[in-house]
Amino acid sequence: RGTLMAGKRGLIMGVANNRSIAWAIAQAVVAQGGEVAFTYQGEALEKRVRPLAASIGADFLVPCDVSDDAAIDSAFEALDKKWGKIDFLVHAIGFADKNFLRGRYLDTPRDVFAQAMDISCYSFPAVGRRAAALMRDGGSLLTLTYLGAERWMPHYNVMGVAKAALEASVRYMAADLGRDNIRVNGISAGPIKTLAASGIGDFSYILKWNKYNAPMQRNVELEEVGGAGLYMLSDLSKGVTGEIHHVDCGYHIVGMKNPDAPDI
Ligand code: NAD
Repeated sequence: RGTLMAGKRGLIMGVANNRSIAWAIAQAVVAQGGEVAFTYQGEALEKRVRPLAASIGADFLVPCDVSDDAAIDSAFEALDKKWGKIDFLVHAIGFADKNFLRGRYLDTPRDVFAQAMDISCYSFPAVGRRAAALMRDGGSLLTLTYLGAERWMPHYNVMGVAKAALEASVRYMAADLGRDNIRVNGISAGPIKTLAASGIGDFSYILKWNKYNAPMQRNVELEEVGGAGLYMLSDLSKGVTGEIHHVDCGYHIVGMKNPDAPDI
């Protein structure tokens, strides 16, 4: 057991099950001596998150649906009462109506667009502001994004637009909070088969495409995103802010199909 996170406490938002990216980050943090609290989206998920949390010695869980300001306020009030101070926050939350994660982006209705932006982008500054108020000795805020923010990806549609806004939020929040020694970064993960990913059209094709065309000729593992998360939350990255860090086996540098890749 390492000590990179010894004495640090933080909130992890976005665990749905043991395949969640947030869960991989939580495990990496706890393995380095950090202490974590969790939020969960609703009662159905509480049943999954509570035993996972217990398995790494965490017993502080609060409900928080990020589309509801009152729910965010009460989660952070509970955290303030419990710890009074935190050092890090993980925001691993995204949502868009899956009926529109296929077909044309152009056909996204206004309410679907607004909801995707609200939950997948606005929630980061919304929780970041409350978390920063508890980061009395500086801290680190981390969100999760995807290459679909920077480039067109089939089916990603409104999520790509929301992720682009989320990445811009990382930069604006980094500027707002830098003077308080609070860092704000994003990890742009390669595709991983999680609950959220299963809503995206043709996801298994995307996995294969990445595998054959990424410089490392494979897909990224959950633990690898966990390790990068640990870096961003720990003092190892204490000079890093406003950054979008790709953890995708190098796929983001690729400009063309690998001529040696098999047909898929
Ligand atoms: P996941 O399904 O395990 O996690 C998504 C989480 O978002 C869930 O815990 C869900 O409860 C939460 N959520 C959705 N709406 C919410 C709401 N209104 N209030 C509170 N919580 C809400 O899937 P994941 O892949 O681990 O997703 C985590 C983050 O990683 C997301 O932002 C996702 O876009 C991003 N990401 C995923 C991949 C991938 O391929 N899986 C790649 C890059 C980025």
